[in-house]
Amino acid sequence: QAESLDATIAPIYEEVLQRNPGETEFHQAVREVLTVLSPVLSKYPQFAERKIIQRICEPERQIIFRVPWMDDNNQVQINRGFRVEFNSALGPYKGGLRFHPSVYLGIIKFLGFEQIFKNALTGMPIGGGKGGSDFDPRGKSHDEIMRFCQSFMTELYRHLGEYTDVPAGDIGVGQREIGFLFGQYKRITNRYESGVLTGKGLDWGGSLVRKEATGYGTVYFVNEMLKARNDSLEGKTCIVSGSGNVAIYAIEKIRQSGGKVIACSDSNGVIVHEAGLDLDLIKQIKEVDRRRISVYADHHKDAKYLANGNIWDLPCQVALPCATQNELDDKSAKKLIDNGCIVVAEGANMPTTPKAMNHFAEAGIAFGPGKAANAGGVATSALEMQQNASRDSWSFRLTEQRLQDIMVDIHKTCHDTAEEFGQPGNYVIGANVAGFLKVARAMVA
Ligand code: GLU
Repeated sequence: QAESLDATIAPIYEEVLQRNPGETEFHQAVREVLTVLSPVLSKYPQFAERKIIQRICEPERQIIFRVPWMDDNNQVQINRGFRVEFNSALGPYKGGLRFHPSVYLGIIKFLGFEQIFKNALTGMPIGGGKGGSDFDPRGKSHDEIMRFCQSFMTELYRHLGEYTDVPAGDIGVGQREIGFLFGQYKRITNRYESGVLTGKGLDWGGSLVRKEATGYGTVYFVNEMLKARNDSLEGKTCIVSGSGNVAIYAIEKIRQSGGKVIACSDSNGVIVHEAGLDLDLIKQIKEVDRRRISVYADHHKDAKYLANGNIWDLPCQVALPCATQNELDDKSAKKLIDNGCIVVAEGANMPTTPKAMNHFAEAGIAFGPGKAANAGGVATSALEMQQNASRDSWSFRLTEQRLQDIMVDIHKTCHDTAEEFGQPGNYVIGANVAGFLKVARAMVA
């Protein structure tokens, strides 16, 4: 696996493989960053001398804990909880919690590793971390979710703090779960420490625009990529995979930008609605009723539900993978290119496989990697922390303007860094190098 890497980098990657057996998603995330670092090491020999890459690849602290909880039948259930505090060079550990049956240490480490560079790119003072559990929220009652969250926090609270580690949501963790977690933290510590969690409700320290931020930010990034090519979203046909928080607000912002979204999905299937998706209905199904996206087809005669369908088979000009890791493989990438797609931006974390990324690069597609394109979520978490620290709350307009400015800056940083390293238009190189440089400089200092 390490063979095709540059001679200075290969042994470092080899060491990561040996030290973290079986953690394939983590290997994939590390490899993507390491692949582009040879020119950086040549330019800054102090990074190699201080073994900065090796240090970045080893989390500062990894916490694994038991989460026992009582289900509605009064049976004890046991899950595993994780928090990987990866890097605190730039600020307190920051990153979401994911509750999904696929969660194991390798998933949390890949997410935490990505988070280091993503957070660096935002320009905000936040380090990188991630956590979660193999708990499956699907089919669980409201009370079961609450008891699980309370038990999870009963162990995790000792590792958190507004100056230490600040979790937020991710897949399976939204405002409801953050509420249960925050309530338990407050009760155990006897502190109204608003800045210890982000993604809170508006009545109890949350920020406007946080809910919308990841999806909106991804579309701002798309707008910037298109602008750099003298183009815009106006009149473009788009597809957005997923139907969670990221997908919903990406769809909303695409529409506000003049584009048309004809499809979204969940892990069971795809909804295609050529007339353009009915966003209010999607919000009702997902945010209020908490149901599967297939229900959509019951409301619109001209919409189709494709059970087990592949959303990437649909012709479009803009494709936004906003569901989960490795959802867009090389076959799908080829299909998108053949069907005339010109822009891909990752609303999810690492949704594109390495082979698919190579196809996009060869075809000259504008490709926005998640570290840059979906950084709006965590950036707005940092804005929530600012509001909490100053006991203030900002207007929607001001907060959204800050988010937009941050996304424009991230695009410029990635664009200019790619150019500086002789790879104009390659946002993957731009994002990885720029994110790495910021963290590495701080570590050396
Ligand atoms: N889970 C989100 C991400 O992947 C947000 C993290 C945060 O707001 O801390 O970046």
